Amino acid sequence: MHPYVEASIDKAAVYALAAELGLGDLERLPAQPCLASRVETGIAIAAEDLAFIDAVESRLAARLGREAVLRCRVTHAGIVIELGAVLASAAAANAHEIASEACVAAGRRFAGVRRYTREDGDALIARMSPGRLTLVLVTASLVVMWINARTIEVAPRRAPMRGLAVASLGPDVLADGFDPQLAASRALAHSSRMIADVLLDQRVAAGIGNIWKCESLFARGIDPRTLVGALTQDEIASVYASARELMLAGLAPEARAAARSFAVYSRTNQRCPRCASLITVYQLGDPPRWTWSCPSCQPGGAVVGVSS
Ligand SMILES: [Zn+2]
Repeated sequence: MHPYVEASIDKAAVYALAAELGLGDLERLPAQPCLASRVETGIAIAAEDLAFIDAVESRLAARLGREAVLRCRVTHAGIVIELGAVLASAAAANAHEIASEACVAAGRRFAGVRRYTREDGDALIARMSPGRLTLVLVTASLVVMWINARTIEVAPRRAPMRGLAVASLGPDVLADGFDPQLAASRALAHSSRMIADVLLDQRVAAGIGNIWKCESLFARGIDPRTLVGALTQDEIASVYASARELMLAGLAPEARAAARSFAVYSRTNQRCPRCASLITVYQLGDPPRWTWSCPSCQPGGAVVGVSS
């Protein structure tokens, strides 16, 4: 699997992404299919256990809010409630009370509330709107997502370029020796398209997702709606160079541990960090992607490249 990074995600980015995808009002996905994972290895899975888990999680969700990351687990030590770090201690106290009452009523041993340790990836996947997210890879420290991918090709690690689709991808922005000028010259073949779309076109250069599209264009002061033909090769190369720089910085372990903050991405109507103008948002491309920019720092697109 070639790691084309759509996003490396921490909690802040998860919320930003959820906001971008308009997931705020989604119903909870049915919990039943994954409830078995709540039962500790070595304990036989019984229907009444799953019903108990579902009942406790539903009661907790009703009290703590749908946004709460919570898990009711059946462990050898007893029933354990896990809560995401987003919850305040008051919520933990609430969860303790609800779960201990439920355990007493069901004649089960209650073993306490603890912190849920993989809340980011789990919260993200649980909230994903069906059809938007094509593939998710979850590791202990990273969630990598592909959104609206048209084709996903899984290739042997030793021969990643063998497949035709893979071979048609442009140079990898994250690869050693990536040449921004080469990427820019490939982009110039698409002079009548908006720069925002071309940055996402994996056949031109592979690796840039919606977050780094927005952030790199802000970094270079270019409106996302600007037509490629209105830019010089050096200007386009500087955008690819910025994207690579930002993506590499975002992949560093210390960056993932820290709360991520973006300059424009997902910051609708917030102040630009450079000039304090209000950041605007609109949809661009096919499929349409939410796009953020600063009207003062990234001038011109409204005149040059508005699509009808
Ligand atoms: Zn600005």
